[in-house]
This record gives sequence, C-alpha cells and structure tokens, in this order.
Amino acid sequence: MFSYEEIQQIRNQFPMLKNNENKNIYFDNAATTQKTVQVINTIKKYSCNLNSNVNRSVHFLDKFTTNSLELNRKHMKYFINAKYREEIIFTTGTTESINLIAFCISKFLKKSDDIIISHSEHHSNIIPWQVLSQKNNANLKVIPVNSEGALNIRVFKKLMTKKTKFIAISHVTNTFGIINPINKIIKTAHKQNSLVLIDGSQAISQITIDVQNLDCDFYVFSIHKMYGPTGLGILYGKKQILDKLPPYKCGGGMIEKVTFRQTLLAGLPFKLEAGTQNMAGIIGTNKALKFLLNCSIIKVKSYETKLLKYAIKILSNINGLQIYYKNSKLTKILSFNIEKIHSFDLGKLLTNYGIAIRTGAHCAQPLMEYLKITGTIRISFAIYNTIEEIDIFYKYLIKCLELLS
Ligand code: PLP
Repeated sequence: MFSYEEIQQIRNQFPMLKNNENKNIYFDNAATTQKTVQVINTIKKYSCNLNSNVNRSVHFLDKFTTNSLELNRKHMKYFINAKYREEIIFTTGTTESINLIAFCISKFLKKSDDIIISHSEHHSNIIPWQVLSQKNNANLKVIPVNSEGALNIRVFKKLMTKKTKFIAISHVTNTFGIINPINKIIKTAHKQNSLVLIDGSQAISQITIDVQNLDCDFYVFSIHKMYGPTGLGILYGKKQILDKLPPYKCGGGMIEKVTFRQTLLAGLPFKLEAGTQNMAGIIGTNKALKFLLNCSIIKVKSYETKLLKYAIKILSNINGLQIYYKNSKLTKILSFNIEKIHSFDLGKLLTNYGIAIRTGAHCAQPLMEYLKITGTIRISFAIYNTIEEIDIFYKYLIKCLELLS
C-alpha cells in the first residue's frame, strides 16, 4: 500500500494536480485520467525537436520515429503479454478498435448467425454490433443483468448455440465497475467456436492483463484512461485471426504495391493501420506504461479499492442513498442515486465547489432503461486521489443535498 508521502509524490507528477491552486477535485477518472508530466514532456519534446512521419523516408527523423514507434509496439506487447509484435494494432481508441473488428468480421458473418453482447455495455460496444447485425441480417442477442447490473451467466450459457459467432463484452463495466467473469465467458465461447472481444477500457489501469492467459481473440482499450495521451487506442488480436481480416481503412502505409489493376496489401500490423499514425501519442504512451509499472498495477488496484471502501462507508450515512453493486469485488467506480435527487442537479451544484463527477447514463442508456432510472451519480478514482478529497467531496455533497431539499 502507498504511504501518504508516496501519494503526494505521485500527485506531483501530474501538472493538473500539482498546479491546482483552486484545490479542484477530479473524480471522473473513468471518463479519462490526467496525464503525467513525463507523458506531456515527451510529447512536447518529440513535437518540438523530432517530429516526422514513419516508414516513408530515408531521413534521420523518419528513422527515429519509425524505430520509436516499433519499440513502443514492443513495450505494449510485453505490457499485455501478447505473443507477437504484429498483434498490437494502433487505433484512435477503444471505439475505433471495436468498429474496426465489427467492420472486418462482416464478411465471415452469415445471415441468422448470432452476436452476443450484454445489457451493461458502453454504447461503443453496442452500436457497432447493432449496425453489423442489421447489415448482415444476423441476430444481436443480449445477456440480461440482475437488478444490481451483474451479468446473468446462466442465461448467457443458454444463449450460446452453434449459431453464436461472436461475443463482445466489457472486462469491467463503466457504469457500476462490475468485473465480468470473462474467463468463464471466453471458455464457454470457445467451446462453441465463437470469437470473443473484450472491452478493457476500464480494466487496463487496474488489472494486469495477460491476453495469452485470458485466451481472448481481441482485447481493446484506450490509452487516455491509463494516464496516457488522448487519440490513441490499442487493438490486440490473435495473429492467426488478424491475418484473415480484410483492411478496415485503405490508404498510405498499408500496402506492398499499388497499381491501377490491383493493390498488394502489406502484412500485419500495417495492413490495419492505414494513414498517418498518432506518432507523438504512441511515443508518449511509453511513459504512461512506465508510470503504471513503476507504481505497480497490483498496488494501484489495492489503493483505489481502499478509496472506494472508504467512500462507500461514509456515503452509507446518507439517508435514501442507493449504491449500485457495492458488495462485489470492488474496482475504482462507484455509482449511486439519492432519493428524490436528480443526478444532473447534484453534478451541477458540485461543480460550483470545484468537484468534477460524472452524472447521467454514462453512455449506457439500455442499462439505465432496464433499471428504470435516468442515470446515476458516478465517482471514479485514480491513483492520485486521496481520502482527504473524499472527505471534502462528502462535506460538499451534504451541503448540496441541503440546498436541494
Ligand atoms: N468502453 C468502455 C467500457 C468505456 O468506459 C469507454 C469510455 O468511457 C469506451 C468503451 C469508449 O472509449 P473511447 O471513447 O476512448 O473510445
């Protein structure tokens, strides 16, 4: 566990927090995390002194960027324990990674095949599958959840048939922070020869990911949720599957030879990375990985769980407050509602005191509709948050509730 001094040292690595004269509190880390000074400085230094494109020219700047990019691909391979470097595809984020797969598997999906998702997915892991199933006349099946938002695995097993070709499921839900039983889901899916995509957006900063051990076919996440730059995501896919996929976008960087008669595609990973990459972002990502590894992901999780337990304890003093899914394994996300209070009203009042929380449906409208709620109040922690911040949040929460009552 981190000492008070260690957390202060960590906070000092984040310019947003170090220069925080107004003592603002940032509890919206599930939406995006703040970036370390090392990430920011690396991007700045690269952009000021070394900027160039990759794999296009013979000059020294191109060579530097190309080598750095490929080195960072290797670091990412080790970070999630992928087997091959070619299994790491750079995208713009989780959303693009999922859209890429939904687009590329279209040619393998026949009429009446089934795709399975769950009721608690983020819109990014619903809409691409809805569009694909409508385009291919396939069926989109949805694993139901219980009143707390947890998956009904018994029904999932019943939904699985020979027609199931694809399952897309989040590792940790962004609404209530539920850790889904993905090991069980992947094993069950593979028994029926179905492919599985895991949306790791909310897991990647807290859980050590070993894609070979998980045996998932695809694992996707966004770098901006793990203290790194925006505009960058990772698509991991098993090489033998990615090899069979058609390109998602076409253009520069993904070809061996182009003539007007035909185009010969490059191999992996370039086949799936058309166009100019977010070079500065990829180079800055290395510092985010280093930061997380230096902190130790296990220690990060146990510290954030301590914050969450403390928040649950003090929030439980409030009459009429309902916490969603507080009794399971805890992550870093806490969602709640308070009787007769609209989440937007509370969010708007708290922002006046410099407290940033998330309110509403959290890009999961089907789940909110199912639970018959308009949304929730969500606080989500990162490694730089503190018990003192939770106390201040609680103090102003009580003040806001008095104003609203
Ligand atoms: N999936 C989950 C579970 C998320 O929490 C998010 C973002 O909040 C996304 C997908 C979409 O991520 P991005 O907007 O970075 O593509």
